[in-house]
Amino acid sequence: MKTETTIQGLAASLNPARAARKIIGFVPTMGNLHEGHLNLVREARKLCDIVVVSIFVNPIQFGAGEDFDSYPRTLEQDSRLLADVDCDIIFAPSVEQMYGTQPRLTNISVGQITDDLCGKSRPGHFDGVAVVVTKLFNIVQPNFAFFGQKDYQQLAVIRQLVQDLNMPLEVIGVPIVRAEDGLALSSRNGYLSEHQRAIAPTIYQLLKQAEQQLHEGHALAQVLESISNQLTQAGFVVDYVEARQTNLQPIAQFDRNVVLFVAAKLGTTRLIDNLQVDFKT
Ligand code: AMP
Repeated sequence: MKTETTIQGLAASLNPARAARKIIGFVPTMGNLHEGHLNLVREARKLCDIVVVSIFVNPIQFGAGEDFDSYPRTLEQDSRLLADVDCDIIFAPSVEQMYGTQPRLTNISVGQITDDLCGKSRPGHFDGVAVVVTKLFNIVQPNFAFFGQKDYQQLAVIRQLVQDLNMPLEVIGVPIVRAEDGLALSSRNGYLSEHQRAIAPTIYQLLKQAEQQLHEGHALAQVLESISNQLTQAGFVVDYVEARQTNLQPIAQFDRNVVLFVAAKLGTTRLIDNLQVDFKT
C-alpha cells in the first residue's frame, strides 16, 4: 500500500494502472476510519482492480462554529486499518495541495435536494461537498466511487452531480454499518461522553419503532412527531425528523417506500441517521 500526499504523486502511482485499463475504485473519506468506512473499501475491493481511499478533512464543507479544527485526524491508525482491508493507495493531501494558494472562483451547487434536511441547518455544506468531490473525481479519475447511505442526502447529491455533469464514473451506495446497539458508526461518535454514548442508540430504536408503527398503519405525521418528542425527552436537541421518498422528493402517496431522517444533537455533537421503510406493493 502506498500513501500519496500530492496530486502529481498520485498521478504517477495511478498512470500505469490507467494505461493497463485497470478498474479504479475510489472511497472518499475524512479519515478517523471505522467499520463503516472499511466496509466501503471492502465493497470497492470486490468490484475494482485498484482501490484508492482519500483522507481529507475538507475545510469548505464545514460552517462557522462547526468542528473543522477539532475533527479527529488519525492518519497512522487509518493507514494500519486500510492496509488490513487491502487498500492500494491512500491519498492524503494537505489543504494547500487541494485548494492551492490562489482564490477559488468556481462553485458547484446542486439545487432543490439540498434545500432542506441537512442543507437547511448547514448552509453551504453541500456546495463544499460538491466542490471537493468533483476535484477528487478529477484527480483520481475512478471508474467507481463508493459512498455510504449513512449520509443519504450526500449520496443523492453526488448521484445528481454525476448525472447532471456527465461525470464518467458510476456511484455505488453502500448500506449503513451500525454498532451492536444500533448506533450508526460515525467519526463524531468519539465526541460523545459515556452518558451521551449510552443515550445515542435511541435514535435507531425510535426509527425501528416508527417503521413498525407505519407498517401497522399509523399516520406518518404522528409517527414523526412521536420520534421528535421522544428524542427531546431522552435529552436530544432535535434538528429535524422528516420523511421523504427514496429520491428525496416530498411524499406524494403514503404507501410507497419512504425514508425516515433524523438529525439531533447530544450536547455539541450532531448525529444523523436514516431508515428506509418498505411497503409491499
Ligand atoms: P466521512 O469520513 O464521514 O466523510 O465518511 C466517508 C464515507 O463513509 C461517506 O460516504 C459516508 O457516508 C461513509 N460512512 C460513514 N459512516 C458510515 C456508516 N456507519 N455506514 C456506512 N457508511 C458510512
